[in-house]
Amino acid sequence: PSSTAELRALDAAHHLHPFSDMKSLNAEGSRIIVSAEGVWLTDSDGNRILDGMSGLWCVNVGYGRQEIVDAVARQMGELPYYNTFFKTTHKPAIELAARLAELTPPQFNRVFFTGSGSESNDTVIKLVRRYFQIKEKPEKKIIISRRNAYHGSTVAAGSLGGMAPMHGQSAPIPDILHIAQPYWWGEARQGETPEEFGLRTAQALEAAIDAMGEDRIAAFIAEPIQGAGGVIIPPATYWPEIARICRERDILFISDEVICGFGRTGAWFGCETFHTEPDILVMAKGITSGYMPLGAVMVADRVAEVLLEGGDFNHGYTYSGHPAACAAAIANLDIMQREDLVGRVANDAGPYLKARWSAFAEHPLVGEAPMIGLVGALELTPDKAGRTKFPDVGKVGTLARDFSFKNGLVMRAVRDRLIIAPPLVISHDEIDELVARARKTLDDTYAELRRWGWVR
Ligand code: PMP
Repeated sequence: PSSTAELRALDAAHHLHPFSDMKSLNAEGSRIIVSAEGVWLTDSDGNRILDGMSGLWCVNVGYGRQEIVDAVARQMGELPYYNTFFKTTHKPAIELAARLAELTPPQFNRVFFTGSGSESNDTVIKLVRRYFQIKEKPEKKIIISRRNAYHGSTVAAGSLGGMAPMHGQSAPIPDILHIAQPYWWGEARQGETPEEFGLRTAQALEAAIDAMGEDRIAAFIAEPIQGAGGVIIPPATYWPEIARICRERDILFISDEVICGFGRTGAWFGCETFHTEPDILVMAKGITSGYMPLGAVMVADRVAEVLLEGGDFNHGYTYSGHPAACAAAIANLDIMQREDLVGRVANDAGPYLKARWSAFAEHPLVGEAPMIGLVGALELTPDKAGRTKFPDVGKVGTLARDFSFKNGLVMRAVRDRLIIAPPLVISHDEIDELVARARKTLDDTYAELRRWGWVR
């Protein structure tokens, strides 16, 4: 098969697509991406599309990095596979573990490798429970997460998640509790300032600990910014209050850095942007810029000491710390450091995009246009002042996302919120192009909604 039509027919006949209405997708046909360079995707009809989502929040260094390809090929030739189970290891895992210890905040010096973000969060659930077993507090089992959270798709990681339609599909594992999320635009009371709301939602953690009893709570898990939940950037009062509660209570604080880690927020890790002090860091995606599947869980020294004292931790995956994936990660980190991509997000590309993105708040369809580092959102609303939602939540978001694709820009829709997270290497000219396409998308969507009579 070579033509788009032939490929689409084969796809429709044989491939079950996750996260898609498969019936309508098969009628419409998927878009087939055949190659990519920098921030640009090319589809099977030769269209060039600006990738505003870095693949799926991962291709931070951009596409077409020969240096990573070469590192993977070299490692495949030398040692394509080995495990870390038989009192064995390999050079890429050793080197990457040391590199991560250097890049993360000082309390982090030890890592478990996995193959993905979901596997990392499964690892975390076992690990925190093991930690409290060793400390002879086996009743400390409950992990507190937040509504609208996304922490992966396996049954255990999915149970940590709090997105109703997705995580309701399978029975959650026990001993997971969900509290409020700091989504001011969507959930604050009328008249409540972002600062008041941030404080109130943070204090939900303390209330949950008090209600269940501190002797039953093992950990709190959160992303610095909820990514898949719609790029929810908490009000300034939120993280300091959460950090205080975690410090004062005997619980572990887990920062899920799968999206925020590796530069996205303008620091190496999102926890640094918000000055929190986690005990565990969860990583995947940006660790290899998506070139190979890899995940990691880093534990702070105070946790590592207990685990080391406890002896074995019977857990691991065939592809944990795959040699070629570790080689990709090392090459990826080399690029990030040499090109100072984190500094670029903080001081150059980030502020350049933010200045233009914030102006979208003036558009009649946009309720808020938050952005931090190189990740942002556009909340679509029929009425800014009342923070009103459209009827049939999600329909307008999907409409806008489809317009965006037609306009040659990948944005994602979560409910009626468009989200953007371009590769960290995006140039100023490409940012101008991104902004022009996003503006056209808003205008197209607005015009269509006027036809529907959904806006005035
Ligand atoms: N945690 C977060 C915050 C994520 O965004 C994701 C993936 N979107 C995951 C975990 C799961 O990662 P993976 O898809 O690699 O299993």
